Amino acid sequence: TLKTLQQVDSIDSDVDPMERSWPTRQNSDPQEPPGRNDWRWHQRSSVLSEWDIPYEELEIQDLIGAGRFGRVFKGKWHGDVAIKVFNIETDNDLQLASFKTEVSMFRKTRHENLVLFMGACMKLPHLAIVTSLCKGKTLYDTVRDRRETLNMSRIVNIATQIAQGMGYLHAREILHKDLKSKNIFLENGKVVITDFGLFSVTKLIQYGERKDDTLAIPPGWLPYLAPEVITSLRATSQYTDSDLPFSQASDVYAFGTVWYELLVGDLPFKTQPAESIIWQVGKGLRQSPSNVQSRDAKDILMQCWKTQPDKRPQFSDLTQTLDRLPRKRLTRSPSTPLHLSRSAES
Ligand code: ADP
Ligand code: MG
Repeated sequence: TLKTLQQVDSIDSDVDPMERSWPTRQNSDPQEPPGRNDWRWHQRSSVLSEWDIPYEELEIQDLIGAGRFGRVFKGKWHGDVAIKVFNIETDNDLQLASFKTEVSMFRKTRHENLVLFMGACMKLPHLAIVTSLCKGKTLYDTVRDRRETLNMSRIVNIATQIAQGMGYLHAREILHKDLKSKNIFLENGKVVITDFGLFSVTKLIQYGERKDDTLAIPPGWLPYLAPEVITSLRATSQYTDSDLPFSQASDVYAFGTVWYELLVGDLPFKTQPAESIIWQVGKGLRQSPSNVQSRDAKDILMQCWKTQPDKRPQFSDLTQTLDRLPRKRLTRSPSTPLHLSRSAES
């Protein structure tokens, strides 16, 4: 198995340019690949092992919850951490390699609005990702909490932080692919985005085990999916291994849905069956935020929800637009708090 692990290491070519102070394997003479005694090999391996956390070092405590990917535990590793344990039973080298490649991207992320990636357990049967533990509430819970009053200035502040974290990810050429209010935490007013890039990791794992050709649609997923992704979902139900066309623009679409949640306090197409959402979004229909007076706020929503991906703004545009919003005028009158506008709608 030593050989296998070396092969896996060599796949990880996605080294941060800032950290690449030695010749990479690709740049060296293809006739003479570095041997195990080569200094370059050892340099690389030591960089990689920095992100490898021995499973034995982790103290796994309470189960926080189970999601699509596996289970999330509270734990200890030099302090409080969140440990995401993946359901992977096969010892498929390719899957392990893909896991490693995907995970190697996370160490490129250093931004105050992104969860801190601390490392990963890469040795089967324990595949896990260790991040800092988010102690606040998710945005999902926050917008639904009746005691929470989100005025427009707070909403814009939250949205700006999300757009900044996402803009950073995109600048690093990382797609989130699963931006949703459940993957955004609020800690004393600070936004922390989690689970970026994990969709790819888990998709690999799940498809590896999939036996039928049905498509499992997790509840609450569809409202975040851009039309181009939704329409190819139908195709994927027949062809299991095709990639969904996620892009920076599909992340922006998902941000639009989060913006809608911030404004309205609930998801669009709430309570509608999957088929109906797929049909409507495919036809170009969007839910307009009822009871939101601000033209500017609606305008942002419609920009993010454009049918054509290339017509949607970038996150850098969004931070500017949000910054220019006239917050005073946008402020909701106290007689129409968020949750009332939501219940009036349903
Ligand atoms: P989902 O994002 O759909 O809720 P997950 O598998 O990502 O599913 O998360 C399962 C549970 O673990 C959720 O309750 C989520 O809030 C929690 N969780 C995930 N990541 C963290 C983290 N870094 N810190 C604290 N709680 C987390
Ligand atoms: Mg999550």
